[in-house]
Amino acid sequence: MLRESVRSLAEAKILPFAAAVDEESRFPQEALDALVANDLHAVHVPETYGGAGADALATVIVIEEVARVCASSSLIPAVNKLGSLPVILSGSEELKAKYLGPLAKGDAMFSYALSEPDAGSDAAGMKTRAVRDGDFWVLNGVKRWITNAGVSEYYTVMAVTDPEKRSKGISAFVVEKSDEGVSFGAPEKKLGIKGSPTREVYLDNVRIPADRMIGAEGTGFATAMKTLDHTRITIAAQALGIAQGALDYAKGYVQERKQFGKPISDFQGVQFMLADMAMKIEAARQLTYSAAAKSERVDGDLTFFGAAAKCFASDVAMEVTTDAVQLLGGYGYTRDYPVERMMRDAKITQIYEGTNQVQRIVMARNLP
Ligand SMILES: Cc1cc2nc3c(=O)[nH]c(=O)nc-3n(C[C@H](O)[C@H](O)[C@H](O)COP(=O)(O)OP(=O)(O)OC[C@H]3O[C@@H](n4cnc5c(N)ncnc54)[C@H](O)[C@@H]3O)c2cc1C
Repeated sequence: MLRESVRSLAEAKILPFAAAVDEESRFPQEALDALVANDLHAVHVPETYGGAGADALATVIVIEEVARVCASSSLIPAVNKLGSLPVILSGSEELKAKYLGPLAKGDAMFSYALSEPDAGSDAAGMKTRAVRDGDFWVLNGVKRWITNAGVSEYYTVMAVTDPEKRSKGISAFVVEKSDEGVSFGAPEKKLGIKGSPTREVYLDNVRIPADRMIGAEGTGFATAMKTLDHTRITIAAQALGIAQGALDYAKGYVQERKQFGKPISDFQGVQFMLADMAMKIEAARQLTYSAAAKSERVDGDLTFFGAAAKCFASDVAMEVTTDAVQLLGGYGYTRDYPVERMMRDAKITQIYEGTNQVQRIVMARNLP
């Protein structure tokens, strides 16, 4: 039922704007409005804080169905979970009460600020500093590649509180867009997910109350990594949705397009491609849903499964979308058809929340 209702909403209210959002590199406001009106913008927020209380699998299905029509729009529910999960996992009751309510209502979005210009795969090499000053912390530094920066009201920011201790000297904070000293860089000009703003976040003597720290001092990196165990599964869902959208489009196209006097779907070479695409998508779906169940239960092998689902589903999305372009021939290579957008959008799922090389490092360290 959830899938059906999200699919019909996505097709009616998000799909019609997907091409324009990509073409104009603009934020999908129509999608945000439709998702908020239907309480689908941050479904993971527990009911205690006014949220829909969706479990990890339901959240995955929402993201998958939105991504099936518009990958940029699927980053609204996905990044709202990414940004707020550190608060949900490790934050004080006061922080949860203060920040999850507005998120659940749709009054504020949440971003996640871990990466820096010189600290990507090696996130623990970050330089952003937080220095204690009485009842306050003062933050200085640059966060890079922050999804929905400028649109989000709230930011989970990881910063070094003790440079001697490397990853154990990193703490997490909630920073608000309106805090003095917060500003944003120009939107990045990207290959895909052009509707999702990616900007630098500048922290210039940002002075925040000490109770904005998420969890204890020095636990920020552990919280950031624990968060990714859960949210990599939402990126797998996004990849899955993009791949399904490409397969669905290609499936319709090959039955309409005629060459050699018959629909190209009559050719076994075309049928075999579609069969492989569907097979890979289904394998990715089973792994993603199984990982989502593990996320919900916080199973011991979650870290392996989160990395495996993200890595596998994103590789499948890249292969399937590339094949979809192939099946549309020259038409697939133009912006008159949606599959080239899907191919461009798929690429990012192999890169963010840890590149697929990094996922393999994570898997190797956590072999079942
Ligand atoms: C559109 C977009 C949105 C993003 N959104 C966010 C966000 O909201 N919040 C956030 O914090 N970050 C975000 N990121 C950052 C993203 O997570 C990083 O780009 C990613 O982790 C890779 O880091 P990097 O770009 O510095 O690449 P690098 O770490 O420099 O990697 C370059 C290459 O080297 C490889 N490599 C690096 N180390 C190893 C190794 N040990 N073994 C093998 N290969 C290795 C990588 O796999 C990659 O192929 C976003 C990025 C993009 C492009």
